[in-house]
Amino acid sequence: MLFDTHCHVNDEAYTEDRDAMLQRAIDAGVQYMMCPGTDVQTSAEAIALSHQYPQIYAAVGIHPEDAALATTAGLAQLRQWLQTEDKVVAIGEVGLDYHWPEPSHEIQQDVFIEQVKMAVELDMPIDIHDREAHGDTMDILRQYGKGIRGVFHCYSGSLEMAQELIKMGFYIGFTGTMVFPKSTKLKRIVQELPMDRILIETDCPYLTPPPYRGRRNEPSYVQYVAGEIARLRDMDLADVQRITLENGRKIFRITEMRE
Ligand SMILES: [Zn+2]
Repeated sequence: MLFDTHCHVNDEAYTEDRDAMLQRAIDAGVQYMMCPGTDVQTSAEAIALSHQYPQIYAAVGIHPEDAALATTAGLAQLRQWLQTEDKVVAIGEVGLDYHWPEPSHEIQQDVFIEQVKMAVELDMPIDIHDREAHGDTMDILRQYGKGIRGVFHCYSGSLEMAQELIKMGFYIGFTGTMVFPKSTKLKRIVQELPMDRILIETDCPYLTPPPYRGRRNEPSYVQYVAGEIARLRDMDLADVQRITLENGRKIFRITEMRE
């Protein structure tokens, strides 16, 4: 059994074959999926899928790339879902992305800070997107995130930063990028971290791992992330699957057991 803790199964890339794609995931042993929103609309779509599929849980949030479109009413809507929807298990995905020039760092930071404060206030885990913004992401968490817990999704920082995050209460999510042969730094981090803080994810439809690199990604391929961790740590694949699944249930506080 597998838990893909970050998959955009609400994406338009699956408009033609979403049910078949999700069935392939279930057939491959993916019994839990966490679908994050990137704005109000995609958060609503994630919630709708969580109603439709027992395997799917949702997160709601404004992604840094969509930060310029954040409104007070939109943030209030997220808050309402977090308080009323049973299968909304986190705020996400939120954070900072300095890869592109827009939106400005200031706008991204304002929207991120609002959502970090919301996570602390509502005692909800946060699912963080941090791309080329490690320093500012950590500064904001240190300043506004007292007692916060959550996931650094598609981790791309250093080993030292991961160790600090684990002390703060975070889990570290690895995607198909870690499986790429050239990702020697990430592979070393996977070998060093405590197994009880590691999560596996696809971030589909992006970041497809080998042997399907270059094609559309989907949750059934999360098995290749698990397989690479088993290889790197010389563990049984079944143990990697079981432990990462339990880690996901723990951080997102999912009490329901699925067979
Ligand atoms: Zn994502």
